[in-house]
Amino acid sequence: MEVSKVQGKILIIDGISTNRIVLKVKLTAAFYDVVQAGTMAEAIELIHTEKPDIVVTALDLPDGSAAQLCAALRSSGLSEAVPVLVIACSAEKDQRLQILRAGAFDVMSKPINETLLLGRVRNMIRAHNKLAEWQMREDTSCALGLAEAPSDFVVPGNVFMVGPDAAPLQGWTRQLLPQLRAHYTVTLLRDAMARLHTGAPPDAVILALPEVGDEIEESFRLISAMRASAHSRDIALMIVQSSTDPLRATSALDMGADDVMTKGFEPEELAQRMKLLLSRKRRVAQMLQSVRTGLREVVNDPLTGLYNRRYAMPYLTRLIERSAGNRTPFAVIIADLDHFKQINDQYGHISGDAVLVETAKRLRLAVRGTDVVARIGGEEFMIAMPATDLTAARNIASRICKAISGRPFAIPGAAKPVSVTISLGLALGKDTALTDAHAPEKVDALLDRADKALYGAKVQGRNRVSLSRPESRPAA
Ligand code: GH3
Ligand code: MG
Ligand code: MG
Repeated sequence: MEVSKVQGKILIIDGISTNRIVLKVKLTAAFYDVVQAGTMAEAIELIHTEKPDIVVTALDLPDGSAAQLCAALRSSGLSEAVPVLVIACSAEKDQRLQILRAGAFDVMSKPINETLLLGRVRNMIRAHNKLAEWQMREDTSCALGLAEAPSDFVVPGNVFMVGPDAAPLQGWTRQLLPQLRAHYTVTLLRDAMARLHTGAPPDAVILALPEVGDEIEESFRLISAMRASAHSRDIALMIVQSSTDPLRATSALDMGADDVMTKGFEPEELAQRMKLLLSRKRRVAQMLQSVRTGLREVVNDPLTGLYNRRYAMPYLTRLIERSAGNRTPFAVIIADLDHFKQINDQYGHISGDAVLVETAKRLRLAVRGTDVVARIGGEEFMIAMPATDLTAARNIASRICKAISGRPFAIPGAAKPVSVTISLGLALGKDTALTDAHAPEKVDALLDRADKALYGAKVQGRNRVSLSRPESRPAA
């Protein structure tokens, strides 16, 4: 059985120690690593030394306020890296807006619903990780001396307003327009998924969560379908709840909504939240872009378009360092096509190349946005998975295996589609929490473990996944 890992590090800031303790108990029970500060000065110190993933702070602090803290983070360039959740005794509309404008991720009023608090914390940690993972890739391109400067902020382009009825959405659009200039399209819930898949995807979707029955189900189906599809998973997704229901808000966040407004439609607050959300998304997109354009020629494999070995190795070094630094699990797969030589021999080298191209395509579709896929040898691929535990890594590995074996390959020179399989060696990154005194594992040692696991998969009959755990003998 897997022992639950620490999910992330949270800094709690509150001048009143009993408040800190109550919160700490809740978060520790949910497997978070918690550090505490009683003042703003102490908190800023801890943000630099402890590098928390997120901050949960009281509205008023003995030496300042949550808004001042956000401003301080912003001026030191940390506001994106460390999302801030503010807990207020009772935050009225104007106060909430003010805190969001200062750059906080969210404001929750007491009494705090525990489920929603934990859902929000998960959502913030995901947002933090996503940015941090792309940041790491950008670091890799810097290491290669090829990064581009990020471009300036631009106002959002297209926003879909989605809900069961058109009339209220049209009203919202009219009120939102003066606050947030964008091109709005009102789309009915039942048409939304089809609309999202025709033409260029919008920058954002604002989904009005209905209050009753079937339409709620349909809304949740839309959220998970959006996140499951490569075409729509990067769209900023904002949920507006008309009636406060902490469980529904939590489900929406867990299913992959980027943000939820739990207190109904309010144009100024929605506009402010959308601005923050879109700028976060844009930052991720910029990093992706700089990686894509700056590195395409040098670090891409011309046949498949995947990253090549030259990119993969420094990337892995960074992944290991960063994961050791913040104690997140990660995993690496080395995958090798089975009996590939026979395909070349039987159908010719060109057909072999076509199989490699199709394999690359299927690998890309099988992994998640933050995973890195590289072709590191003739018919050998590497998949690096940041912030991934054993269960998730296994899922992705078996998804890859099925993506190749599940459907035969149509290739030139073959009368009918050809069945192809792949073997995978999965190595889980060493958990440095167990071996604090030691330096992180070297890239070579990690790849060697993955290679041994791959060898295990081959001798066990191919078309399968074999695992290497740290501290264990080869593959079980
Ligand atoms: P196994 O299941 O043990 O991995 O068997 P295999 O046949 O896949 O392995 P082997 O290492 O014996 O053969 C790999 C073949 O891959 C040999 C080589 O000609 C072919 N190959 C390597 N790079 C390319 C390429 O870029 N294009 C094509 N078409 N073939 C390639
Ligand atoms: Mg092979
Ligand atoms: Mg091989």
